[in-house]
Amino acid sequence: MGINRRDFIKQLAGIGGIALFAKDANVWAGEQTTTLRDSLGVLVDTTLCVGCRSCEKACNQINQELPRKTPQSFNDNSVFDKRRRMTADSYTVVNRYNNPGNSGNPVYVKFQCMHCADPACVSACIVGALTKESNGAVKYDPWKCIGCRYCMVACPFQVPAYEYNNATTPQVGKCTFCFEKRTSKGKAPACVQACPMEVMTFGKKRELIKIAKKRIEKYPDRYIPHLYGEHELGGTSWLYLSSLSFEKIDFPKFGYISPPSYTEPIQHAIFKHFIPPLTLFAVLGGFMWFLRQRKTESKSVLNEEGQEK
Ligand code: SF4
Ligand code: SF4
Ligand code: SF4
Repeated sequence: MGINRRDFIKQLAGIGGIALFAKDANVWAGEQTTTLRDSLGVLVDTTLCVGCRSCEKACNQINQELPRKTPQSFNDNSVFDKRRRMTADSYTVVNRYNNPGNSGNPVYVKFQCMHCADPACVSACIVGALTKESNGAVKYDPWKCIGCRYCMVACPFQVPAYEYNNATTPQVGKCTFCFEKRTSKGKAPACVQACPMEVMTFGKKRELIKIAKKRIEKYPDRYIPHLYGEHELGGTSWLYLSSLSFEKIDFPKFGYISPPSYTEPIQHAIFKHFIPPLTLFAVLGGFMWFLRQRKTESKSVLNEEGQEK
């Protein structure tokens, strides 16, 4: 490619910033998204996880640039003493939760980007650095990223992490669904393959939903009757089964409508008149309003299992 990232940013600035907002209308119209029923995903059965962190290690290895700053040990169980979030150096983390109902055995939960069907991060990114691929992956292009962090504001799961220690060309880090090296070739993600307990199942989302529902039906004492990600926010490529209520393992309660379904009509209206500063406020304000709204509504609209009443 004949132009580097810095030149790309300069070119954008050189035309008065207007081009920042001239994103392909298809992105705003949500045409890059699919219902994902036929695309790929991962079913995570949290009841099988033993907290070995092999998935974290495999993720770190396949994303060869990680860790960028801090060497990590994946044998150190003291990490479970506090709740961790993903960072620009760790695209997935496993956390431990107390489970008084199951002989006191703790529950371990791996978390990463959910690869939403209609991703708020894609909708919020004004330069198209985040894209939804047809296989389900939400891909990040560091070359296009201008470090604005709108994706971080928009993501309902607080997934994208910022490289605060990179002052010149900071990037955003998040799970890639192993797109380039594995899933675009039909191979399971590195974390899925590395798991010794077969906690994760990789396949078509349609099939994963069937597998999950059979497990819930067959083992009603083992699972709560809720497949997280089947419907939340319009659906996600990563689906979760749990023995504890999802609130107890830090999964937010959401309804079934995706954030872009609320915010994009507002954005389109303002785009029509092409007023860049207003567009900025619309993008960010829209997502913040959505997240606040969902927090309030979820308390009254959803039942204990996160299903709509
Ligand atoms: S979880 Fe967040 S970062 Fe991942 S696809 Fe959804 S909105 Fe984007
Ligand atoms: S899918 Fe790939 S990038 Fe995402 S958590 Fe697994 S190993 Fe890491
Ligand atoms: S590799 Fe499997 S069992 Fe080990 S922590 Fe990750 S998901 Fe859990």
